[in-house]
Amino acid sequence: MATQPNEAQAQAPVEFVMTPAPPKQNLWTQVLAQLQDVSRQLDLDPGIVRILSTAERELKVSVPVIMDDGRVEVFNGYRVQHSSARGPCKGGIRYHPNVDIDEVRALAALMTWKCAVVGLPYGGAKGGVEVDPTQLSQTELSRLTRRFTIAILPILGPKRDIPAPDVNTNAQTMAWMADTVSMVEGKSVLEIVTGKPIPLGGSLGRREATGRGVAIVTGEVLQRKNRDLSSTKVAIQGFGNVGSVAAETLHGMGCQIVAVSDISGGYYNPNGLDVPAMLDHAARHPHHLLEGYSAPGVEQIDNEQLLSAPVDVLIPAALEQQIRGDNAANVKASIIVEAANGPTTREADEILAERGIILVPDILANAGGVAVSYLEWVQDLQSFFWEESEINRTLNSIMTRSFKEVWDFAEVRGVPMRQAAVMLAVNKVADAIRTRGVFP
Ligand code: NAD
Repeated sequence: MATQPNEAQAQAPVEFVMTPAPPKQNLWTQVLAQLQDVSRQLDLDPGIVRILSTAERELKVSVPVIMDDGRVEVFNGYRVQHSSARGPCKGGIRYHPNVDIDEVRALAALMTWKCAVVGLPYGGAKGGVEVDPTQLSQTELSRLTRRFTIAILPILGPKRDIPAPDVNTNAQTMAWMADTVSMVEGKSVLEIVTGKPIPLGGSLGRREATGRGVAIVTGEVLQRKNRDLSSTKVAIQGFGNVGSVAAETLHGMGCQIVAVSDISGGYYNPNGLDVPAMLDHAARHPHHLLEGYSAPGVEQIDNEQLLSAPVDVLIPAALEQQIRGDNAANVKASIIVEAANGPTTREADEILAERGIILVPDILANAGGVAVSYLEWVQDLQSFFWEESEINRTLNSIMTRSFKEVWDFAEVRGVPMRQAAVMLAVNKVADAIRTRGVFP
């Protein structure tokens, strides 16, 4: 890594320095392979494995949108419900050019495991639109969201399937969705989505919940390893909703955040970054990016350098398949906390496990978001809202209890934490299927 940036470098416009990743592996194939593994270990009934190997319901929709210049564009949209065995389906809506049916299907299954592992009374779903939202105006995004909502509405409902924000969607997107359903049904149906703005029935603490949950489990794992927070160096890939709050919370807990990145590039300071200044910079950027950030002692790094930075804890909080067979050996962190969904490939998992790196898996590490979505849904259904301190206390107790269950199970069975988490989750879903029976 270079040393101090000179003045010319500091003032030069930030270049987009992402290292191109190899072609993506099929996430659904990976989820199925993992299900096969744990089913063998749990000695699961083959009928139950067959049920869990297919999504319960998949909807593909075309979303025509009148663009601001009068042109009509048509986007592909999806909603997949993987399992409703433990309750209504729950899962985010993603806007991204790489969205396809296999990705949505895989993320829906991961939601089934996630809700089960932290004990929420939900099944798993996911949705997405194949679109680059940065190319759309706010009015185009509103029209896209409303038309997509209507297209998938036949399978949604507060007791059927409750969407939430995910990559490139936010509280505004959820407000458009809730408003669309309320207009069409002629009554207030705000509880149809979670992650809404506070005045529309959103919950205090929901926006921060995933990042806070990531920080809570990071604290738990550091405590188990007798690590002192103030001497812990952390690198975070992604500075969006999840990554920025994880950075802020861990910084507040006393950790040194030494590297962060977003799609515009990465920033490294071995003595610790000024996280509040970076949050302030991103808040003022039109696309909430770190682009153009500079400070004394901060050097620019690319994505690969961030992943291999000399740190104790690495937190991937951007997209899938960032830690792969080709770069897992370069990771220097001894602890990885998966804030993103599916950031580590199966090949990388094996390399990391052989190297003795502790990995807190996505379905546990980033479950804080769906945990507080659950609290939002409960508040909406009873039209009675809680203080943020109550929300945070409940989030803390869900995350620490779930972490303990997975950690202890992993110790007893002598398996990595991901395997332990998926085994616990699949077992709970299988129990629900067994108890309910196969209809009719
Ligand atoms: P977001 O869109 O707010 O932020 C994503 C961040 O990643 C941005 O800073 C973006 O610039 C950055 N990024 C994108 N590609 C990158 C790359 N190649 N290298 C470095 N940075 C890159 O999304 P989010 O809500 O923060 O979600 C991040 C991850 O967390 C996703 O995997 C999502 O599925 C998962 N997740 C989110 C929630 C939630 O509540 N928002 C809950 C659970 C899991």
